[in-house]
Amino acid sequence: MNYRSTRNINQEAVSAAQAIKQGLCNDGGLFMPEEIPALTLDDIKALSEKDYAQRAAYILSLFLSDYTYEELLADCSEAYSEKRFKGGAAPLATLNDNTSVLELWHGPTSAFKDMALQIMPRLLSRALTKTGEERTAFILVATSGDTGKAALEGYRDVDKVKITVFYPVDGVSRVQKLQMATQEGENVSVCAVIGNFDDAQNGVKKIFSDKEMANKLNENGYFLSSANSINWGRLAPQIAYYVSAYCDLVAEGKIELGEKMNVCVPTGNFGNIFAAYIAKRMGLPINKFVCASNKNNILTTFLNEGTYDRNREFFTTMSPSMDILISSNLERLLYLLGGSERTASYMKDLAEKGVYTVDADIKAALDAEFAGYYADEAECAETIKNTFKNGYLCDTHTAVAICAAKKYQEHSGDNTHMVVASTASPYKFAADVYASIEPKEFTDDYEALPCLNELSGVGIPEGLATLLSKEIRFEKVIEAADMPKEVLFELGIQ
Ligand SMILES: *Cc1c(COP(=O)(O)O)cnc(C)c1O
Repeated sequence: MNYRSTRNINQEAVSAAQAIKQGLCNDGGLFMPEEIPALTLDDIKALSEKDYAQRAAYILSLFLSDYTYEELLADCSEAYSEKRFKGGAAPLATLNDNTSVLELWHGPTSAFKDMALQIMPRLLSRALTKTGEERTAFILVATSGDTGKAALEGYRDVDKVKITVFYPVDGVSRVQKLQMATQEGENVSVCAVIGNFDDAQNGVKKIFSDKEMANKLNENGYFLSSANSINWGRLAPQIAYYVSAYCDLVAEGKIELGEKMNVCVPTGNFGNIFAAYIAKRMGLPINKFVCASNKNNILTTFLNEGTYDRNREFFTTMSPSMDILISSNLERLLYLLGGSERTASYMKDLAEKGVYTVDADIKAALDAEFAGYYADEAECAETIKNTFKNGYLCDTHTAVAICAAKKYQEHSGDNTHMVVASTASPYKFAADVYASIEPKEFTDDYEALPCLNELSGVGIPEGLATLLSKEIRFEKVIEAADMPKEVLFELGIQ
C-alpha cells in the first residue's frame, strides 16, 4: 500500500513508513493511501473475538503494509496495555437505549489524543529503521496545553526519538503546567516560554526553517520532526476504535451484525471524524456522521452551505480543543469526494482568500453522509447538567457532541443507534464541568478536581489525582529568543 498527495495524484507514491517519517507531502498536501482496504462482516465477526490491541493491529496492518502484523501487534500491545489504559482502551458507556458513548480518554493524559499518540511514536521509530534513517528524530512541539502532554507521554522512552516541548508560561492551566513539569522519561524535556502561545509557536516555526540549525543537528546525528496531527501515523490508529465500538455494540446486542450505526464526533481538526469515515469506506456499517462543533461553527456552516469561510470571528470557549478555524484533515475528505485537482484548487483559495465553495456533486456527496450541528456555550453547559442528572458525567467537548447528536436525532427522526465519541475525561475540564452543574468559582482547575469528585462520585483518573505528589522535573522559563539555544543545550550540542 503506497501513499500519495491529496493535491497531486501524479506525484510519486511513497511507502507508509516514508509517509509517517515525512509527515507532510512536498507539495503541501496530505498523504492518503492509494486505495481503501476492505473490511467484510466476516472480518468484523473475527475481530469481535479479539482484544483492543489485536483489533488495532489488524486494522493498521491493512494500511501499513510495510510493517508486519507481528510488529504492529507488539506496538499496539504496548501502547494500549492495561497499564496505560486502565479498564480498556475504548470502552462503551450507555447514555440511553439509542445512544452509546465511546470513551476515548482512559489513556495516560485523560484525553483522546492518547489513542493516536501512544502508538504513533512507535510507528515512527520503526519507520526510521525501515527507511534506513540513521539519525535520531528530534520532535519539537509548541503547545497550548493538551497536545504537548499527550506527545510527551507518547514519545517518552521510545527508541530513536527525543522530544522537547515549549509552552507559554501564562498560557496553560495549572493542571496542564503540573502535568508537563512532572513528565517522566529519559528522552524528554519541557521548557516554559515567556509570552503567549503564538510566541512559543513562532519560536518553533523559526527553528524549523533555520538552515544553520538543521546543519548543526545533522552533524550531530539528529533531524527535526513534528508530532503533527495531519500525519497519517496519527490518523490511521483512530480508525480502529470505530471498528472496535461496532464489535462491542454487536456483542452487547445493541445492534445486529450488518446493521448500521451512526457516529457523532466533537470536531476540531477533522481527524477523528475522518477516521470514522475511512472505517465506513472500508465496509463498517455506518449510516450518518454527525459533525459536532462549538460556537466556532465553521464546519456546521460548511456542511449546510458548501462554503468554507475562515474570515470570521474566533471565539474562546470551554471546549478549547475545538476552537479552530482551519480543520486541516477536511482536505482528505475533499480529496476522496472530489479528487486531487479540485482539492488543490480549494486549498489554494483557502490560503489566498480564506474561503472556497465546493462543487454541487461534492456538496451532494456530503449531504448524503454528513450532518453538521453545533452547541453554543449555554447549550454545552445545559447538556452537561442534564446528562449528569441522567446519570452520566461528561466533559465539555463530549457535551457539545451529545447536544449535536440530540439535535440531529430530533431534526431527522433517524433512530439508528448513535455512538458519540467522548474525547476527554470530565476531570480534564473539571472547573467548567462543575460550574455547569452547580454555580461555583474556582481559583484554578486543580482545586476543582476533589470538588467534582465529591459532587459526582466519579473517580479522578490516577494521572491527575497524583499530580501534586510527583517530582517537578522541569522548571526552566526562557525568553522566546533563546529557544534555539535551549534546543542545542538539550541535545548537548555546542
Ligand atoms: C483534539 C480534540 C478534539 C478534536 O479532534 P479532531 O480530530 O481535531 O477533530 C476534540 N476534543 C478533544 C478533547 C480534543 O483534544
